[in-house]
Amino acid sequence: MSAFYREKVLSVQHWTDTLFSFRATRDSGFRFQNGQFAMIGLEVDGRPLLRAYSMASANHEEELEFFSIKVQDGPLTSKLQKIREGDTILVGRKATGTLITDNLIPGKRLMLLSTGTGLAPFASLIKDPEVYDRYDQIVLVHGCRQVSELAYGEELVAKLHDDELFGPMLSEKLSYYPTVTREPFRNRGRITDLITSNQLFSDLHQGPLDIETDRIMMCGSPAMLEELKQLFETRGFKEGSGNTPGHFVIEKAFVER
Ligand SMILES: Cc1cc2nc3c(=O)[nH]c(=O)nc-3n(C[C@H](O)[C@H](O)[C@H](O)COP(=O)(O)OP(=O)(O)OC[C@H]3O[C@@H](n4cnc5c(N)ncnc54)[C@H](O)[C@@H]3O)c2cc1C
Repeated sequence: MSAFYREKVLSVQHWTDTLFSFRATRDSGFRFQNGQFAMIGLEVDGRPLLRAYSMASANHEEELEFFSIKVQDGPLTSKLQKIREGDTILVGRKATGTLITDNLIPGKRLMLLSTGTGLAPFASLIKDPEVYDRYDQIVLVHGCRQVSELAYGEELVAKLHDDELFGPMLSEKLSYYPTVTREPFRNRGRITDLITSNQLFSDLHQGPLDIETDRIMMCGSPAMLEELKQLFETRGFKEGSGNTPGHFVIEKAFVER
């Protein structure tokens, strides 16, 4: 048995010069938990070229969705950004990752903090009805440099609001907070600063950070994650993992090479 499923690309959408998303068929045997990632890629010169990708679709969906960067000269994404409907992608059989609800101790407010393509695992998690069962409030923060980079997240949330099943859940529990650092926008600033200054919470008309009730998942650049980890640890929050659930969990959105 091959280590990969061969899936067909169903659609591709380009959001900016550096971001695109695509949908693909999903083998009925491919199981994952919302928030996890798998190795995906292309066959190049007869050999698999693979990178870690979070599933942006939820595990109850029939198709797979991914939200991707385009790295100029990136071994995979310089090619992957050219895929079209009908092309074949490889999807590794094993999904894994720390951004799953079981890695957090029970709480009341779930904060999903992301930058760039770090939004992908949370795109999956906000389509998980169990997340709405477990938490009273869900805060989805997406930080980017430019307003155009928010488009995928904005459309995702807007579509879910229009959905018959998810619309009422989102209206009751989800607060979506897009923010940019390099252009004028209604929310501005880096996630760390927005939390330290309490700006995030006052903008959302919610209470400040509280270790008793807040549980956190974060996914973004290694530098942003290091800053946030320190911020939360200084306030007594403990990192969770598969063995020991904690107050927060972390996944890198990419590895610095
Ligand atoms: C757990 C995990 C999950 C990931 N999930 C996703 C995902 O859902 N979507 C996605 O696009 N990428 C994701 N990545 C990154 C992905 O694995 C690849 O690095 C990316 O597709 C680029 O591949 P490449 O071969 O073109 O370039 P690489 O040689 O892999 O990367 C070259 C350089 O590009 C930069 N870079 C790579 N990926 C990103 C990114 N996503 N955002 C900003 N800069 C980046 C880094 O500086 C990196 O050193 C994930 C990585 C990890 C570790």
